[in-house]
Amino acid sequence: DHLINQIAAGEVVERPASALKELLENSLDAGADSLSVDLAEGGSKLIRLTDNGEGIARDELALALARHATSKIASLEDLMRVRSLGFRGEGLASIASVSLLSLTSRFAGADGAWRVEADNGRVGDPEPAALMAGTVVEVRDLFFNVPARRRFLKTASTEYAHCDDVFKRVALSRPDLALMMSHNGKAQWRLKPETPAARVAAVLGEEFAASALALDERAGMLRVWGFAGSPTQSRASRDAQFCFVNGRFVRDKVVAHAVREAYRDVLHLERQPLYVLFVELDPETVDVNVHPTKTEVRFRDSQTVHRFLFHALHKALAQTRA
Ligand code: ADP
Ligand code: MG
Repeated sequence: DHLINQIAAGEVVERPASALKELLENSLDAGADSLSVDLAEGGSKLIRLTDNGEGIARDELALALARHATSKIASLEDLMRVRSLGFRGEGLASIASVSLLSLTSRFAGADGAWRVEADNGRVGDPEPAALMAGTVVEVRDLFFNVPARRRFLKTASTEYAHCDDVFKRVALSRPDLALMMSHNGKAQWRLKPETPAARVAAVLGEEFAASALALDERAGMLRVWGFAGSPTQSRASRDAQFCFVNGRFVRDKVVAHAVREAYRDVLHLERQPLYVLFVELDPETVDVNVHPTKTEVRFRDSQTVHRFLFHALHKALAQTRA
């Protein structure tokens, strides 16, 4: 079983940033609105996530670390409609199988907090702990027992940069959250709940925010809103294309292509602009269950989505030229 977990871990946990992503999604699914991340050595030495979510009951702590034990889906039907970010029930088990993991939590309304530790896949008994509310997950020494993976890790600053990307995606998609992150004891991000526009400015810079074009278009069950870089923007960084489909960060060819085509058509701009776009559509018409770590989706009707996005961007861009 431990081996199966380690194999599964290879699917879910490629590097510290992918473990961080799993932990952040769990906190969001638990309804937390204040999340604080502490990293050491790019996350390979420590990832600690403190949240103020609903917490985990004493008797559920060990279960939370068991593979395929998820509280989030009751049936296959649910899987199709899944709205929560995590739903496979293998995130924590996978991370625990390749690290030293501890889980401390105080279930909403309980009169105390409890802590369990996982060591090489073995989960100890819950011990009383001190915590006012929410959950603290600590992941230490990632891949300490998988030398081949450990060796594959890049420098701390590169691993940190990946964690930073993951953090930014959450920060952009959830401006209603208070978010903090530190690295090696130094504060890196301190974000208070704010409007989407203010959050975009905080994360991507005032220059982008001030010159970006705001758009919001709907057609039936489809909606796209967000901020698209103005043509005067001096630099278009490769990593500044943010697209969220029903709240999930995705890298999608259909979306990227539609945006690029609109810019080319209206502004004769060849390069990819900066953008932060939120695409919302009927969850039944998009498949998110492609791969646990890959940021992919599959649209049932990608032509319709493409056409819709192209026209939405086209319209917004044409207005600025008029
Ligand atoms: P999944 O997210 O797919 O359900 P995970 O292995 O990531 O699977 O988590 C297992 C379970 O542990 C979750 O279903 C949830 O019940 C619980 N859990 C994990 N992290 C938290 C958290 N931060 N707050 C509350 N519950 C959590
Ligand atoms: Mg999860």
